Amino acid sequence: MPSAVRETSSKSPISNALGGRIVLTTYPGQSVVDPVPLTWGAESAEKRGPILVARGAETLGKRNAIGAHGGQYCVYTALAVASGDLPPDFRPSFHNTEPTFDFPPQPSWFSAKQIVSMDPFGHDIVKYYQKYLDEGIDVRPTIAITRATMRVGEIADAVRDGEIPVDGDIVIDKAGNVRVTKVAVEPVWYLPGVAERFGVDEDTLRRSLFEYMGGSYPELITRKDLKVFLPPIGGLTVYIFGPPERVSDEKVKLALRVHDECNGSDVFQSDICTCRPYLAFGIQEAIQEAQQGGSGVVIYFRKEGRALGEVVKYLVYNSRKRGGDNADKYFARTENIAGVRDMRFQALMPDILQWLGIKKIDRMLSMSNMKHDAIVEQGIPILERVPIPDKMIPEDSKVEIDAKINAGYFTNGKKFTDEDLKQVKGRGWEQWEDVSRRMGNWL
Ligand SMILES: [Zn+2]
Repeated sequence: MPSAVRETSSKSPISNALGGRIVLTTYPGQSVVDPVPLTWGAESAEKRGPILVARGAETLGKRNAIGAHGGQYCVYTALAVASGDLPPDFRPSFHNTEPTFDFPPQPSWFSAKQIVSMDPFGHDIVKYYQKYLDEGIDVRPTIAITRATMRVGEIADAVRDGEIPVDGDIVIDKAGNVRVTKVAVEPVWYLPGVAERFGVDEDTLRRSLFEYMGGSYPELITRKDLKVFLPPIGGLTVYIFGPPERVSDEKVKLALRVHDECNGSDVFQSDICTCRPYLAFGIQEAIQEAQQGGSGVVIYFRKEGRALGEVVKYLVYNSRKRGGDNADKYFARTENIAGVRDMRFQALMPDILQWLGIKKIDRMLSMSNMKHDAIVEQGIPILERVPIPDKMIPEDSKVEIDAKINAGYFTNGKKFTDEDLKQVKGRGWEQWEDVSRRMGNWL
């Protein structure tokens, strides 16, 4: 057995609080290793067991998962501990944090295959795992459910223009305030199930995760007995319009938008893509479906820039604008820089639909074949696909949308020839350069 324990010479207060020894990794059968049994897909939450990944003294030896709570924000937890703001032995109080809506358990919650990327019991650990909390074990939620009022500019405009009525329940006033139930979900991966979705073996997945996260989680390699990993990535948020109990009700219609983050467009309304317009369209359709007695759901995934991140995204923008921004070269510009055109991999996306108990989608507000195929492959039929209306597409984003349609994205409208695509051109930077020169003169 290799020794994985080092003595640290540091005398900082934090290393004193954390203990003098750094355990670089653990191995099965080691004296410090005594994980609480975890059986993914078991017939009850109790038999499944709590997910334990916290590092408090009572919990450390009982951990049955790799990683840390909080998705990518675990890095800030580390900073808070390092700076002395957060005591390493801090234990949260869950008083009054329980869900605002009690989602009914679904058969998928007890399946090792239908849900592999979130903890189906992560929203109410107080209900399911009180026994462990009472013993001093640090069980933490990975899902939170709340309610809110929201106001989106496009929806407020549609209410003002009479396109969306004020019903007093979902759309509560003429200002366009809308009631919504929100579910935030952090990723919890059951590695055998994730590997299966990607069509690779578990060892390959573990090795790749270990290597390409800079060797951050050696237990991916040394602890094959631990099957659950909380990766340091963004999660998702579900926005439900209308009564949440309708979401799993097969008898009413469901309108759904699955949206992947695009901060530049979603928040700052950059006009180079159709993300914010499609998001607003999805919200509008979801509200209207709910107003007609159905249910409307928008799911927002933190997968910025096709999960390539904003740095790669902006490099691609530069390459497009400098190289001639034509629709026929759109995907090649990304592939040249990122090696792939898209890293969102929709294979895990349908888990949240399974968790919500969605059995069919009446109106899918998306043109993406990847999303469509991933959902249908998980056994959820899509009855109608609804593309974004032409009037909502900003002029400069025609390059993106036309390239996507040509690449096989769903459309009711026209298909393009290669010659057509060469003609679809984005706005250049010429006016920008004029602006900077003018600004330069002023300065
Ligand atoms: Zn975008």
